[in-house]
Amino acid sequence: MKSLFRSAFGEELLDVFEFSPIAMAALDSEGRYLDFNPTFLQTFGYSRDELIGVSNRVLTHPDDRDATDRHRIALLENRGVTPRMEKRYVSKSGEVIWAITNVTSVWSKTKEFCLFVVQIQNITDMKRATSALIESEARLRARADASRDAFWDYHHLTGEVSVTSRFWEMVGHEAPGQVAVGDLYKHVNEDDLVELSARYQAHVESRGAIPLNIELRIRNRVSGWFWVILRGVVTDWDESGSPVRSMGAVTAINELKSVQEKLINSSKMVALGEMAGGIAHEINNPLTIIKGYADLISMQMAKGSITSEEAIRMAKQISETSSRIARIIQGLKNLSRESQESEIRVHEIGEILDDALSICLERFKSSGVHVGIDVDRSVRIRCNSIAISQVFLNLLNNAYQAIANQEVKWIRLTSRIEADQLILSLADSGPGVPKELRSRIMDPFFTTKAPGEGTGLGLSISKSILLSHGGGLHLDEAALNTTFVFRLPLATFEPI
Ligand code: ADP
Repeated sequence: MKSLFRSAFGEELLDVFEFSPIAMAALDSEGRYLDFNPTFLQTFGYSRDELIGVSNRVLTHPDDRDATDRHRIALLENRGVTPRMEKRYVSKSGEVIWAITNVTSVWSKTKEFCLFVVQIQNITDMKRATSALIESEARLRARADASRDAFWDYHHLTGEVSVTSRFWEMVGHEAPGQVAVGDLYKHVNEDDLVELSARYQAHVESRGAIPLNIELRIRNRVSGWFWVILRGVVTDWDESGSPVRSMGAVTAINELKSVQEKLINSSKMVALGEMAGGIAHEINNPLTIIKGYADLISMQMAKGSITSEEAIRMAKQISETSSRIARIIQGLKNLSRESQESEIRVHEIGEILDDALSICLERFKSSGVHVGIDVDRSVRIRCNSIAISQVFLNLLNNAYQAIANQEVKWIRLTSRIEADQLILSLADSGPGVPKELRSRIMDPFFTTKAPGEGTGLGLSISKSILLSHGGGLHLDEAALNTTFVFRLPLATFEPI
């Protein structure tokens, strides 16, 4: 060995090879072992005598033997092949060893081939780690695929996003692998996309402090729109603070949504029930007026003391008053419809307010409540009109109950526009909400009312309706009187 290496590399490098932690061997042109360093023998578990003169095919894994021969011949023929080769060996004890071999061909001055010197770097551990990593990634992916959630991973610089197969199952399309983010947006409701972009902006601007968590509608190719929750987080930022990578999950929540809708609907029926006593008033008063005029006409006709102008005026009153009853019944019909039946579309706020007022205004007036309405009726909002009428109804009902035992009874509804939002304030002359209860009044089932008078759902449901419309609800703690303020985004210029 020493003489071989000495002739190949010179005296100075001899020690380096002798004590190298890398296995090294010298081979002849046929690939037979001529000599080895101690690390080589240690690696393969053979003694020097067992290997001298043995073909390297013996140590090579059966599947890599032919490739090893081809590599050796190519090196001998000096075809300019890379001296590096990744291959497997088998040790004496049968252990498979992955290695990177580096073959140096040594030639004499007269260009005669002398020997090969092979350095063998054992990479078995690295290979094991890599395959374990690949396996665990595959397992993770399989778990993600099996999950009812879809996961997404967005690279901002390339604009590419990868989503797990569950997403494609949700939208009913073949999984295309990586896609541009714009291709994913095609499956999302356009209005929700505007909201998503605003929420994402807020998440980025707050450096992740405002969580990205939004309910969206996405469309399945066959069954149509359905609701999901999209959650996400920016995981990598560049030095200038711009996002580089974000990840998150998409969860289908249709079932949850339908339970929510049912709850909203049943609470509305409760609110309507609370109004029912009042509805008798709403209808009784105009009926009394109608009866009064009808009796008057017939009495005066019998006496022959009525002019045709007077008869026409009274008939007109009868007709107008019947229209009022028709409006009340229509409002009641509108409100008692299932709110899912009503599509989200553009409405004037006045028309929605009328539905709610039609079934309570008479009762308020007959209980001596002064109702002041100063609302710009023509403001347009994009909404589910039944749901928003329900919000009016809940808040009006609360105000009415709060002032029932007050000496001064008034309810005032005003509107203003602020930054693309319609702000409605409903104030009443009641005693207000005690400070210690303020943080709890919007909690579901929180009520201070006697059983039968309140369910504790009015405010929480109103708030969730407004939130799902991109608006909100709060108690104005700075106002002098009890004032609930609710916001709704204005509709852009779309046809009604
Ligand atoms: P409910 O009216 O059935 O109790 P809500 O969720 O509508 O349920 O209201 C929760 C609670 O908030 C009420 O029980 C009441 O204590 C308080 N509240 C709501 N509106 C008013 C109001 N206008 N004035 C005073 N307290 C109110």
